[in-house]
Amino acid sequence: MLGLLPAFIIGLAVDAVFLGERTFVLPLVPVEWIPELPVAQLRLSILILLAATSLGAVVSWIEDWCWSVFAQRIQRSVRVDAYAGLQRQELQYFTRRRTGDLMSVLNSDINALETFLKDGLSATFWILATVGGIGVILATLNLPLTVLTLLPIPVLAAFTLLFTRVIEPRYLSVREEIGELSARLENSISGIETIKTQHAEEFEVERLRDAAEDYLRAQLSAVRAQITYFPGLSVISGVGFAATFLVGGFWVLEIPVFGLYQPLAPGEFVTFLIYAQQFVWPIIRLGDVVDDYERAKTASIRIDAVLSRKPRIRDATTATPLVITEGAVSVDDVTFGYAERETLREIYIEVPGGDTVGIVGPTGAGKSTLLKLLARLYDTDAGEIRIDGQDIREVTIESLRRSIGYVSQEPFLFFGTVRENIRYGSFDATDREVERAARHAQVHEFVRRLPDGYDTLVGERGVKLSAGQRQRITIARTILKDPPILLLDEATSALDTETEALIQSSLGGFTTERTTFVVAHRLSTVRHADRILVLDDGAVVEDGTHRDLLSENGLYANLWRVQIGDIGSLPSEFLRRALQRETTPDRDE
Ligand code: ATP
Repeated sequence: MLGLLPAFIIGLAVDAVFLGERTFVLPLVPVEWIPELPVAQLRLSILILLAATSLGAVVSWIEDWCWSVFAQRIQRSVRVDAYAGLQRQELQYFTRRRTGDLMSVLNSDINALETFLKDGLSATFWILATVGGIGVILATLNLPLTVLTLLPIPVLAAFTLLFTRVIEPRYLSVREEIGELSARLENSISGIETIKTQHAEEFEVERLRDAAEDYLRAQLSAVRAQITYFPGLSVISGVGFAATFLVGGFWVLEIPVFGLYQPLAPGEFVTFLIYAQQFVWPIIRLGDVVDDYERAKTASIRIDAVLSRKPRIRDATTATPLVITEGAVSVDDVTFGYAERETLREIYIEVPGGDTVGIVGPTGAGKSTLLKLLARLYDTDAGEIRIDGQDIREVTIESLRRSIGYVSQEPFLFFGTVRENIRYGSFDATDREVERAARHAQVHEFVRRLPDGYDTLVGERGVKLSAGQRQRITIARTILKDPPILLLDEATSALDTETEALIQSSLGGFTTERTTFVVAHRLSTVRHADRILVLDDGAVVEDGTHRDLLSENGLYANLWRVQIGDIGSLPSEFLRRALQRETTPDRDE
């Protein structure tokens, strides 16, 4: 509004001070405050102009600050909420999406939203205030000419609507290509070791070039529509300005246009022209706003897909905390498949609390999958899993996961100190407890020799550890958690036999008091288990102690022969099936 004042004052000064065609009156200002002498009126006009400009600058500073704080705060909240939304999703959600794609939602999509909130939304108010204000002031001066001056607005609106229809799908594909590009970047950076050893740098650059090419194409297609829009706007508003100039000019000269005539003073005409010019800017800015809005809208669709998605695995409304009494686990007629093909079929297992169950079988038999079902990382398709008689779908996920210690096949360390990594999940543990767990996992001596001991940074960008060292740290993490049920998925596979023996002996004390499932390829690891389940192609085919299974002379006995190097006595059927298994992988949807 302050920005609109100058044009009005200039027009008034021209008519009242120089031409004497109007009396010098200001809206909302009492007549007795207005000086009579033209020179004094001119001084007052200049004073008002200066005051409007200075006040306008202060107001604009405050306004910009408020909009920025508003947009930044929303950006922060949306980012944290979207991150929390992602964290809530089930494991499958992540295995079906690429990290880079999810990252681009958290980064560039949320930034696009912020740009609109900071620039676009404030500009919307500015445009409404300017165009509305100009309309009101002009209408008091000369109504017919005002109608003519504002006539381009509906034309511009129609043109803008057309633009949004054209640009929206193009922006969506730009955002998708950004996701694709960052997914590729992320993938090739995390796979750098393989790229180097395979000498595939050129190949990777080519692949990135392809993704960059697709992105370029999507961008150019959007740009083509975008740059047509602005000249279009200028032409429409330019024609509108010329019409105002023509009709207003004729009326100042007291010549009717198409039989229409409304008296117009030269100063009023000046006000009209300045406003007609001033009014072009908000309209052109409208293009940017619509553009920002469209980008933000497509970004929001993607953000919303994360925010509003209900995780498939979540607490039942009637969920109660899991109460562990003995730690007995029963798997009752469980069937499960990642996609159409069944990975596990009709599994029945009854494990009394405190027992150690070894799970063995050929690769791809479904061993890890069974552990994942026990931890409810996936839900079964049919059947039930119960812990001490409670269906794991009926208890809170938090209480279930607290009761379960899971050491996965691929131990993961976060960027942070060794201490933080061991403490991960048991955030209240004291340093002494951390060290005790580390001793148990045979990792204390090794950690002490690291440059900063327990405060050495590990994980990405930290000190590089061997697979065995990482595995021992994650075992320490689980020991510290002290859960009543343990799931060890090849937990000692990366260790040399000597360290494995050490860990086995210290884990021995740890596992005797709790129900433990141990997946192992190295059969010596599970040899002393209370019971060994042999999985083959998603079904339990053998069940018993090491001794029982050897005497059964089935799959377990053959696997045992492989491990002790007695390949010659393997039945040819066993070798044929091993080969077949390798050539029929499961497919996810
Ligand atoms: P290994 O001894 O090689 O670790 P495993 O017995 O632990 O094998 P699982 O990891 O349970 O086998 O896999 C069983 C089958 O399920 C495999 O055929 C595998 O391809 C498939 N599979 C595993 N994880 C997924 C997943 N996230 N999505 C789709 N299929 C999967």
